[in-house]
Amino acid sequence: MDKKQVAIIGAGISGLLACKYCISKGFNPIVFDLESDIGGVWLKTIKTTRLQAPKALYQFTDFPWPESVIDHFPTQQQMLDYLRTYATHFGLMRHIKLQSRVETISYDGPSSPAWNSSGETFPKWNVSVNHTRTGTTQVVSIIGYVVDFVILCLGRFKDVPNIPKFPAGKGPEVFRGKAIHSMEYAAMDHDKAAALVKGKKVVVVGFGKTGLDIARECSSANDVRSCMILYMPDPDNFFDEVEKKSINLKKSKHISFYENGICIDEDKTQIEAEVVIFATGFKGEEKLKDIFESSRFGHFIAGSPRVPLYRAKWVAALLEGAFKLPSVDEMEKDIARWDEYMKQSTGEYHYRSPVGALEIWYNDQLCKDMGMNRMRKNGLFANLFEPHGPMDYVKH
Ligand SMILES: Cc1cc2nc3c(=O)[nH]c(=O)nc-3n(C[C@H](O)[C@H](O)[C@H](O)COP(=O)(O)OP(=O)(O)OC[C@H]3O[C@@H](n4cnc5c(N)ncnc54)[C@H](O)[C@@H]3O)c2cc1C
Repeated sequence: MDKKQVAIIGAGISGLLACKYCISKGFNPIVFDLESDIGGVWLKTIKTTRLQAPKALYQFTDFPWPESVIDHFPTQQQMLDYLRTYATHFGLMRHIKLQSRVETISYDGPSSPAWNSSGETFPKWNVSVNHTRTGTTQVVSIIGYVVDFVILCLGRFKDVPNIPKFPAGKGPEVFRGKAIHSMEYAAMDHDKAAALVKGKKVVVVGFGKTGLDIARECSSANDVRSCMILYMPDPDNFFDEVEKKSINLKKSKHISFYENGICIDEDKTQIEAEVVIFATGFKGEEKLKDIFESSRFGHFIAGSPRVPLYRAKWVAALLEGAFKLPSVDEMEKDIARWDEYMKQSTGEYHYRSPVGALEIWYNDQLCKDMGMNRMRKNGLFANLFEPHGPMDYVKH
């Protein structure tokens, strides 16, 4: 059988999964990642980052956590070791080209429809890759690959920082201190990151997990110095630090810079700062849109992608011809229905809201497509009411 050439962009968890399942179906995928190692977001994090989900809910169905990892919330290093062992165990490394940034993807096929709805023939895609080799001198070469199918595993929480826009004269350019995104802080050597905030007045902008973690790192590096703009309850000992005043909280919708710090626009108060760290997230969808040479494909990126569980296996089954895609028209209608549903259930926050309760249902649909049993527990009641986790999918 004539096997399609598959390109996978990204060697984080999603890319590794896609690679593994493509190999299992007899394909010979080629994986590109711009970094010098696999692991995606887990390759470099701030010092105190751990898995947020309990490890029992965050593991490969066919490769459980080793018994040596006792902690329920593994460290970044344990996560990375786990991913490396997974990749080695399934022979993925020989498919992966590191330091290989995909610059653009262009489509080479009939103008409409953009993909084939019968699933039998596929157009070609041109993937332009910037390979960097670092030795005594850095060598860069651009190579074009022609493939039948591209799986985008670019990730959402990396590479393209989301930094608020400021009116002219009110942004970081007027600030005398240092303003960086959490991505730069995470990329630093841990000692350098600690030195950056040591003995400084630090403002962390953002109330997500990264913001809280950075604020905590600042507070352990200092006494009564760090400040954070946020509004969010958090467990652990975060509020102990708040009580000790080593972390101060301030809620604000609008901020701006002045030469010695941050200005809270609502009440015009000024917070002195020497370092400002934006823990304001990433623009993952832009990365997806921008990778296509033609802006036309950017318009096809629909809403917020959901978790990768089972997707990789599903895509590999599609490529194998185990089932066919619905028509483009039907898919577009389905996307519109989902969008409407999300808006109704979560209002203006629908792009950010998790659809946790629907994940099980969603996975059921994927199982159905693949002709697999949707009853993963012993008995109807257990299937309906017991919690579902990765290991429920092992028998498939
Ligand atoms: C600090 C942190 C903690 C997290 N904790 C949890 C958690 O506890 N539980 C949970 O469920 N999720 C967590 N997440 C979410 C996490 O992003 C996912 O769980 C998962 O690791 C994402 O994997 P991914 O492969 O989809 O993306 P990524 O890990 O982002 O991998 C994408 C890869 O694509 C590469 N890439 C991007 N663009 C290009 C290009 N143009 N060319 C070549 N390569 C490219 C990148 O270098 C990267 O290696 C966390 C995220 C972060 C940032």
